[in-house]
Amino acid sequence: MCGIVGYVGKREAFPVLIEGLSALEYRGYDSAGVALIDKGSLVVWKNKGKVAQLKAFAEKKVKPGSTIGIAHTRWATHGVPSQANAHPHTDAKNRIALVHNGIIENYAALKDKLKKEGVVFKSETDTEVLAQLVGKYYKGDLVGAVSQALAEVDGTFGIAVIAGDNPDVLVGARRGSPLVVGVGDGEYFLASDASAIVRYTKRVIYLKDSSLVVLNRSDHTIMDLDKKVMTYEIQHVDYTAEALAKGGFPHFMLKEIFEQPDTIRNAMRGRLLVDDGSARLDGLNLVMQQLRQINRIIFVACGTSWHAALVGEHMMEEIAGVSAEVEYASEFRYRNPIIDPHTLVFVISQSGETADTLAALREAANKGATVLGICNAVGSSIARETHGGVYLHAGPEIGVASTKAFTSQLTVLALLTLLLGRMRRISHDEGITIAQALQEIPEQVKKILKQNAAIKDIAKRYWKHNNFIYLGRSYNFPVALEGALKLKEISYIHAEGYPAAEMKHGPIALIDKDLPSVVIALKDSVYEKVLSNIQEINARGGQVIAIATEGDKNIKKYAAHVIYVPKTIPMLSPLLSVIPLQLLAYHIAAFRKCEIDQPRNLAKSVTVE
Ligand code: GLU
Repeated sequence: MCGIVGYVGKREAFPVLIEGLSALEYRGYDSAGVALIDKGSLVVWKNKGKVAQLKAFAEKKVKPGSTIGIAHTRWATHGVPSQANAHPHTDAKNRIALVHNGIIENYAALKDKLKKEGVVFKSETDTEVLAQLVGKYYKGDLVGAVSQALAEVDGTFGIAVIAGDNPDVLVGARRGSPLVVGVGDGEYFLASDASAIVRYTKRVIYLKDSSLVVLNRSDHTIMDLDKKVMTYEIQHVDYTAEALAKGGFPHFMLKEIFEQPDTIRNAMRGRLLVDDGSARLDGLNLVMQQLRQINRIIFVACGTSWHAALVGEHMMEEIAGVSAEVEYASEFRYRNPIIDPHTLVFVISQSGETADTLAALREAANKGATVLGICNAVGSSIARETHGGVYLHAGPEIGVASTKAFTSQLTVLALLTLLLGRMRRISHDEGITIAQALQEIPEQVKKILKQNAAIKDIAKRYWKHNNFIYLGRSYNFPVALEGALKLKEISYIHAEGYPAAEMKHGPIALIDKDLPSVVIALKDSVYEKVLSNIQEINARGGQVIAIATEGDKNIKKYAAHVIYVPKTIPMLSPLLSVIPLQLLAYHIAAFRKCEIDQPRNLAKSVTVE
């Protein structure tokens, strides 16, 4: 999920690697490290903190002469940010060093097996398992050992590997995580993102998924993971490092919206048990017994996370049969909430550092509650202070307005509903239906993203309006709130979200030709009722942009514009209906020439009260 740089050639490797890591800093990371080969053995420098710190402490000690090395910026998924968990990781005999982006799903089983064979682990990471496996198979043929080790792992990886006794070979491999080779003159670069290497070469090979690359100073070979030689293309990149960092998108926010098929999949990785119709959440292992006994959940959150919590409340009550409520962290902390031994408090925060949420967590823990967390940043304050929790694994979110973290939160809440529900009233068959529907979501999101151009056209017609209203019901009322919040945050347009039926109790007074309404009108149990609300808007001269279920032709009669989303079960529909709203807000803000990634007055992680 974070950054990889590798080098083999004729220059001093250390400065090339540090420069490369600096170019990847924009992604956000928690630790950094480098491995070099010095006279037949590996030297590793790594630490928690910034690349500049790594540079400062290693620079004076690195002996000149190493022209091969690998480097990494880590964004922790397994194990807190610490020196031991930072990459590169080495095997037990210190013969190979490896850096990794991604998640090894079956790391726990592999780790147990290696432990039984006598391997002593130095870190808590999933990555070290892979390093130990490569070490186990390494007998002088590095690419052979890497291929053998990768055959045993499930999950995603982009890796770079070197062996101390083999100073001419750099091996890379990928599945799911990106990797690009930079072709120089008598030298090669390897990176997770071309922005790390464009200052050295403009000739690059974007590795196809599931491939292996072997680089030495004069030559390169590209193969599939079973070592069958593959074809490839050398491309000329002529972008700036900044443009490359955004992956060709004009803003990080748009890049992150488009990452959602992958980030949703990552949130489920190794957790969704389709055949059992259930979920496995290792971060909750210590509280499994309590989860069986609780009869009430209080979700505590702020902003977008609070909207995710509202969807979670609905899922918990309707599907899992557990009574749930949602609190603003800032309100909860100053009240005297009633918490009994059967109440579970769940705090939700992308950064894991939100000051109000942290204070609410402490207040609940003080009252004796079991407090669990859902956050994205591993090792964050919330992750440290809760009794257990679930990470989103969405990768760093750079756009201030949250998009991919929201859909990952919804995914985790759905997994949680499955887990708690199967302990209560969800049958095996119902569980399977939910799990299968969840599995289809990433492809369905992809389908919605294909409508980007059509959504941009709608934005083009409405970007000058100064007020919007968003309506939805049932599971999609929180999505209406989230759509309105996105628009407010990045375009500075006044927007309000309402439960559709509430409109007639006040906001309907606002409706006229200048107030567009965005209405989520999916084919669910409240469809007919929402359709009536749309007609009420039409009757008052309002314009309606509808989010509707694929195949619903009828709605075209009532709405000026329709954006279709694929059909799924109601509890998962927010994962789909929110995507067009994110895109609509984005394009409206882009037409208004707003600072989309850093909207005025907002901060990514709200660490003040
Ligand atoms: N899963 C690995 C870890 O937690 C890699 C994280 C990353 O991609 O930076 O160490």
